[in-house]
Amino acid sequence: MEFLSDVTVELVRHSAADSDVVWAARVSTAGEQSLEAVGQDAERSKGLINYLMRDRHGSPFEHNSMTFFISAPILVFREFHRHRVGWSYNEESGRYRELQPVFYVPGRSRKLVQEGKPGRYRFVEGDDDQHKLVAEAMETSYRRSYESYQEMLEAGVAREVARAVLPVGLFSSMYATCNARSLMHFLSLRTKDERATVPSFPQREIEMVAEKMEALWAELMPLTYAAFNAAGRVAP
Ligand SMILES: Cc1cc2nc3c(=O)[nH]c(=O)nc-3n(C[C@H](O)[C@H](O)[C@H](O)COP(=O)(O)OP(=O)(O)OC[C@H]3O[C@@H](n4cnc5c(N)ncnc54)[C@H](O)[C@@H]3O)c2cc1C
Repeated sequence: MEFLSDVTVELVRHSAADSDVVWAARVSTAGEQSLEAVGQDAERSKGLINYLMRDRHGSPFEHNSMTFFISAPILVFREFHRHRVGWSYNEESGRYRELQPVFYVPGRSRKLVQEGKPGRYRFVEGDDDQHKLVAEAMETSYRRSYESYQEMLEAGVAREVARAVLPVGLFSSMYATCNARSLMHFLSLRTKDERATVPSFPQREIEMVAEKMEALWAELMPLTYAAFNAAGRVAP
């Protein structure tokens, strides 16, 4: 049995660069010659990307692709899969393979106590007793659930039936493919960032995934990333 307090995000493949935005946008005025203009004038590219972002000309940000491997608790995937547009998902199956006993237990930095009203919660530190209680209660419950799961499998019950006893703290894994536009929309909702003109209040665990995705994307498309932040993290 394994207890984890962090998530995994890896960029497994990509075709994504600021120049992809530029050539897609310049087809408006340069036709097929827009490809030749890529990389000729960095300052003009920066200006163009900022303009597209600010005025919410979104489609030039779709001509790129990033595939992430993500391992996180099922409670994160429930929220993640609500993002429908510009996303493709494939998740490990609980029907075709035995699910492994890897479970989420919040780490010491995870704020435990919720204050305020719905939609505008504020989270504050838990004390030592609360952290101890959370770790013990979760671990006990996870062990019990997984034992019941195994008991049913050993008795010949199908995996798809037995998995009903497993909780949303169980880790799952998936590939998620998106483009810069769909990623920006996701980041605007699933991170809490002081540069955002429209603040969001995501659950910390999906934000942990989002922050890792953001760091990987920022390396690939630094001009687009800067423009996104300058525009108040509003997706175009
Ligand atoms: C902090 C937070 C709390 C939340 N709480 C809840 C909750 O309590 N319960 C709950 O059920 N969900 C909740 N959600 C999920 C939320 O309602 C969205 O389903 C999720 O954020 C995905 O956003 P989206 O629909 O904009 O994304 P996508 O599905 O990726 O869509 C992207 C954009 O495409 C357009 N679009 C997509 N589909 C349609 C459509 N059918 N019709 C018209 N336009 C469309 C919209 O402009 C949309 O913004 C919460 C989300 C956040 C960030």
